Amino acid sequence: MLITREELALHKVTVDQTYPAGAVDYPKFRQTGPLRVQAVAELVEGEIRIRGHLEACMEAECDRCIAAVEIPVAQDFDLSYRPVATIAREEEIEVPGDELDVGFYSGPGVELADVIREQTILSLPMKRVCRPDCKGLCAGCGANLNVEACRCRQPADDSPFASLRQS
Ligand SMILES: [Zn+2]
Ligand SMILES: [Zn+2]
Repeated sequence: MLITREELALHKVTVDQTYPAGAVDYPKFRQTGPLRVQAVAELVEGEIRIRGHLEACMEAECDRCIAAVEIPVAQDFDLSYRPVATIAREEEIEVPGDELDVGFYSGPGVELADVIREQTILSLPMKRVCRPDCKGLCAGCGANLNVEACRCRQPADDSPFASLRQS
């Protein structure tokens, strides 16, 4: 859904939309349940401002054992987008600290799916483990140490008796 500057010039746009599982694609995550976004978009001093809330159920791989980890997402957002043409002019102007949520858009407006994707990824934790004490995979044999024993065999030369046998 494209939120255009042209339409916002006439009236606010209210969004209440549910995307089915998998509708929004992510590089390293799967959207496993419906994603609902409720938002209001308006034009404020030439910027497109989008405020709202999104909820989704995401899934990622455990950092240690690559098992699927479910991550519920509930994120509020309040974002402003400037047309990209103004960057050049404002390049030298310092962006005040409270404007960190300002983004840029090119073309007629802002694609809602892009906003949702970005906000969802921002809300995900940096470390994703299936459980706090996940033992992960053995670097040698690849065994999932949560459910099986390491299959790595001690190389024969590492045996403390190797030198005895040679003498
Ligand atoms: Zn794990
Ligand atoms: Zn092993």
